Formats: sequence, structure tokens, C-alpha cells
Amino acid sequence: MVEQALRMKGLTSAIFSQVDEMRKAELAKGKDVITLSIGSPDMAPAQHIVKALVEAANDIGKYGYTLSKGVPDFLTAVANWYGQKFGVKLDPEKEVHSLIGSQEGLAHISLCLTNPGDIVLIPDPGYPIYSAGPLMAGAELYYMPLKRENDFLPDLEAIPESVLKKAKIMILNYPNNPLAAVASKDFFTKVIEYAQKYSFIVCHDFAYSDLVFDGYRPESFLSIPGAKDVGIEFNSLSKTYNMAGCRVGYIVGNAKVIELLGRLKSNFDYGIFYPLQKAAIAALTGPQQCVIDTSMKYQIRRDIIVEGLNDIGWNIDRPKASMYIWAPVPTDQSSVKFAADLLYNTGVASIPGVAFGTFGEGYIRFALVQPENRLNEAVRRIKQWIG
Ligand SMILES: *Cc1c(COP(=O)(O)O)cnc(C)c1O
Repeated sequence: MVEQALRMKGLTSAIFSQVDEMRKAELAKGKDVITLSIGSPDMAPAQHIVKALVEAANDIGKYGYTLSKGVPDFLTAVANWYGQKFGVKLDPEKEVHSLIGSQEGLAHISLCLTNPGDIVLIPDPGYPIYSAGPLMAGAELYYMPLKRENDFLPDLEAIPESVLKKAKIMILNYPNNPLAAVASKDFFTKVIEYAQKYSFIVCHDFAYSDLVFDGYRPESFLSIPGAKDVGIEFNSLSKTYNMAGCRVGYIVGNAKVIELLGRLKSNFDYGIFYPLQKAAIAALTGPQQCVIDTSMKYQIRRDIIVEGLNDIGWNIDRPKASMYIWAPVPTDQSSVKFAADLLYNTGVASIPGVAFGTFGEGYIRFALVQPENRLNEAVRRIKQWIG
């Protein structure tokens, strides 16, 4: 008889798996399903990245453990990329550390910074690992609602002082998944003031730093004065370079926090396979046209969905960044019920907003991970159904 540990109860993906079951059931019936549910990039990495991976994989001397910090050339490549792109100066030795995908770091950071009973402030709606990580560490969660009337930014003044005093971590994510919202310099400045006053660490998830549209350029949290004293940034090659399966990410920023996570990781893992680090170095140091091309494709896809649906009176905001469309449910149904109806009637699979938290109710998320012709087809079917 297997008895699950109490902490496992914090790991529920009930709605995600329920939605995916429905999608698979439709596929099994032979339906032509257009999968806009899971947020896994469908594009290929650039040729020079694949070439670097293959060449390194042919070197049989490179199959040993690499150790979790990351090879020096990788750390330097990250530091230079941050300097060039965001004007953030980083010491590759002390202020950069590799991660087996940023997900891995987000999962483990609470183990380094919280004791049982401490509070982690997380966004609602939010990416599921933001709650799973702290819960595994025995920390308590405080959900910061992200509401449209506040531009999907948390209302810092609304957080009770008693909560702020017990908070050890605040997790933020801009450009945001699932909301596709962005943050301003002023907002980050205010966050830093709060972090200094109440002594918590800001963990900014910057996974969508490069999926940006119409010339929009997001700020790195670390580019704001004082940020390095109170914060770290997680980033990843998954979305920027279409390398999600490679599991290469990194943490940058506060040296003390990085030392702690590095020490934890040196006990947990032995690093990323060398050829994958070589591929990442090629991505970060090579020509950046592939990043512009990827963004441009997402921008075209965004316009197909936003314009197509706005045409039939389904009013949807046009996001400045990310690979998602956060669409208000156009009926008075719950997001789960509407997403199910949408799937049954049109074959378009989405994620009900409530899967990302209570404040996601009233919305569904489309991931722009299908080519243009499939998105045009999705719009055509939705028009026929509700138009
Ligand atoms: C995709 C995504 C990531 C990237 O995760 P990796 O583990 O680096 O692949 C991180 N945060 C958010 C919000 C994401 O959507």
C-alpha cells in the first residue's frame, strides 16, 4: 500500500489534466483538433544552434558530468548577452548560474530562502510552479490578484502589513504567462522599495524577454537601480531560441541568493550535458536574427487571432509580448464550461483561465503554437460557431 507524503497534496494539476483528457478524447474520435492549449513552442531552433549541438555531441570526451554551475563559457555568454541587451552588468563567476530549465530553479528556490511557515507572495493567475515550489518547501502562499483594472500588476498596497512582514519571496513574471501583460520601470521600482522595507527576495521570471511585438522592449528587473540587492531573475533559452526540450536556463542577479541555490543544486544535480551548453553558447553569442524572426512569427499569429475574433465582436486585447492570448469568456459560462464547449463545437483546444488560479476565472488562454494556416482555420471555425 503506497501512502503519499502530505506535501504531495500541494501538487495538483487537476484542471490541466482534465482539459488534456478532453482534448485527447476528441482526437481519439478522429476530430481535427487545433491544439492551442499547452504552451510548448512549435518552431525549430536556428541551424547554427543545432550544428553546435551536433558537433559537441560527436566529441566523446564530453560525456562526463559538467557540474551544476555551468561551464565558464556559458556563464560568460549569459553575462555578455545581458550586458548587450539589457545594460545589466553581471559577474559571470558570482552572479550567473545555470539551471536545468528555469522551471527547475523556480521549483528549488523556496528551499533555499524559506522556513516552514514563511510566506511566498505569488501572482494569481500564475504559472503553476510558483505555488508548487513553495508548497514543497513547507512555505505558505499569499496570492496577489492580477486584475485587468490594475493592468494585471499586483496591488502592493493591498497586501496586509502582517503578510509583508512574514514574506521571504515575491514571485513576478513580466511579460506574463498566461496574461501576456507587461510591467513598467515604475512598477519594478516600487517593488524594490517594498523588498528593501520588508526584507524579501524578488524572483522575476523573464522567460518571455524576447517574444516582443511592435518594437516593444521589456525592462530586465535587474536593470532597475537597487534590484541586485533584493532580487534575481530567471531566464531560459526555451522560448527565445525554441530550445524548450534542451532544458537550459539560468539565474542571474544577487550573488548571495545564487550561492545558496548553487549549493543546493550541487547536492541535487551534476549539471547540464555539455553539448547542450555548447548549443546555448552558440545561441547567445551567434547571430540574433533568429530571435527577431521568431518574434515576428508570433506577432503575425497574434494578429490573426486578435483581428479574427475582434471581427466577430469577441473583444480581445492585443498583447505587446509573450506567446499567449488572454481572452475574456464571451458567454456567461465558467471558463471550464466555455473551453469545453469551444473544443466540442470547433475542435479548438484552449486552457480555462481558472487553471492558473481563482482570478483567472472569466478568461481562457490561447497559446500561439500553431502555424498561421491552422490559426486561420481556428478563427474560421469559431466565427462559424459564434459569429
Ligand atoms: C515556458 C516558461 C518558462 C520556461 O521554463 P523552462 O523550464 O526554462 O523551459 C518559465 N516561466 C514561464 C512563465 C513560462 O511560461
